[in-house]
Amino acid sequence: MTEQFPIYLHNTLGRRVEEFQPQNPDEVLVYTCGPTVYSYQHIGNFRAFLFADTLRRVLEYNGYRVRHVRNITDVGHLTNETLGTGVDKMEAAARRENLTPREIADHFTEIFHRDQALLNILEPTAEPRATEYIPQMISLTERLIGRGYGYCVKGDVYYDVDKFPSYGMLSGNTVEDLIAGARVEVGEGKRSPADFALWKAAAPDKLMRYESPWGMGVPGWHLECSAMALDLLGETLDIHTGGEDHVFPHHEDEIAQSEGATGKRFARYWLHNAFLQLSGAEKMSKSVGNILTVGDLAERGIHPLSYRYFTYQAHYRTPQNFTWEALEAAQTALYRIYDQVADLLQSSEPAGLTESGAAVRNAFREAINNDLALPEAVAVLNTMLSNSTLPPEDKLSLLDDFDRVLALDLLAVGRGLIVAGPAEREILDRRAQARAERDWALSDELRSKLAAGGLDVKDTAQGQRWTRSDVLPRVQAPQTGAGH
Ligand SMILES: [Zn+2]
Repeated sequence: MTEQFPIYLHNTLGRRVEEFQPQNPDEVLVYTCGPTVYSYQHIGNFRAFLFADTLRRVLEYNGYRVRHVRNITDVGHLTNETLGTGVDKMEAAARRENLTPREIADHFTEIFHRDQALLNILEPTAEPRATEYIPQMISLTERLIGRGYGYCVKGDVYYDVDKFPSYGMLSGNTVEDLIAGARVEVGEGKRSPADFALWKAAAPDKLMRYESPWGMGVPGWHLECSAMALDLLGETLDIHTGGEDHVFPHHEDEIAQSEGATGKRFARYWLHNAFLQLSGAEKMSKSVGNILTVGDLAERGIHPLSYRYFTYQAHYRTPQNFTWEALEAAQTALYRIYDQVADLLQSSEPAGLTESGAAVRNAFREAINNDLALPEAVAVLNTMLSNSTLPPEDKLSLLDDFDRVLALDLLAVGRGLIVAGPAEREILDRRAQARAERDWALSDELRSKLAAGGLDVKDTAQGQRWTRSDVLPRVQAPQTGAGH
């Protein structure tokens, strides 16, 4: 392992920034609540997955190995998650499309994976599907009943929150507040209105239902994350991540279930990202109907990595406002970086670091290790690029180094921008010759010819430099509607 530097993270549990100390210095155990695959994941959902990916990359940058589990929810999600009411989202989509729930899940999982790859989100170490964890969820429920935390009422099994005195430790909610605010699941026969379902009886018309000791039913939607985390990561995780909407009830209930079953602390650090907002105070959600996908961005000429870069402009705990103007400005800024990389690559290659290069690297690491201060980290990168005293080899080495966290394909895109085919090379040579002979008319003619083929040439003190204009997508004029 390389030399390690302190990492500071904001822990929702306790609501303060703490120095991160893993249980085992060789491997950090991270769990992220994954997508519910009854529909597209919108760019607001991807803000959460990008945040989790950046966290993982920061840990790896610091020399840690990371075991990262992120689930696929393909059963048991209701339209009103807090109240436990409404229709099953998977089944509603299946009926609407005249497909089986499994077909719906496979379809949207595939699209999620495609978008994840376009955004350079690393595949998690394990990606369990809820439908494959029914036996573990049933045995966890049995364990909770056995330890006095669960009770069965007519085929439903509830968690008895009065038995778990620290219920509310993450969200700050008290059981009294929840009842008074009617933020509790409905259900007949519950001992307390704040109790939540571990297992729900399912009528025969349900498309997905499972045999259990309490009759045919489905798991409550909080149960899967506890069951999978216990199975794949053990009793105590280092870090659990999710969107801030998951703090209550989802993560509060995960704690109650996991700690009720094991008697051990479930997660040592809880990290939550704030929302992407389309306008003012509204979070981007499927039910509001203002969703945008990675595909929608592509249609508008936005490179997926421009969206990744855009998310770095706000700290993960700050709500970020989405506007097309802001996203396009982010793309312009990222493309300017790519152009600078392309320029650098035409005169040098990455090499070791000088002392001043190493100081820049330290500034970058300090930013990312300070609770993932990506806006500062990006500022370090941009200041570095405009530093005229830093050798180009250093700049390229630093770009390569920073990209382990930023995941913007900086060198790869830069190299793609300076590709010139044999025919273009020949024209470039002729043009260099023409310039040497001060034949400006021919030089201009050849420049236009190259430009028509997608190669933009400029003349510098070191000779011709070029970038391709046909590699990166360009913003298209907006179609009707779409998000404005
Ligand atoms: Zn979860």
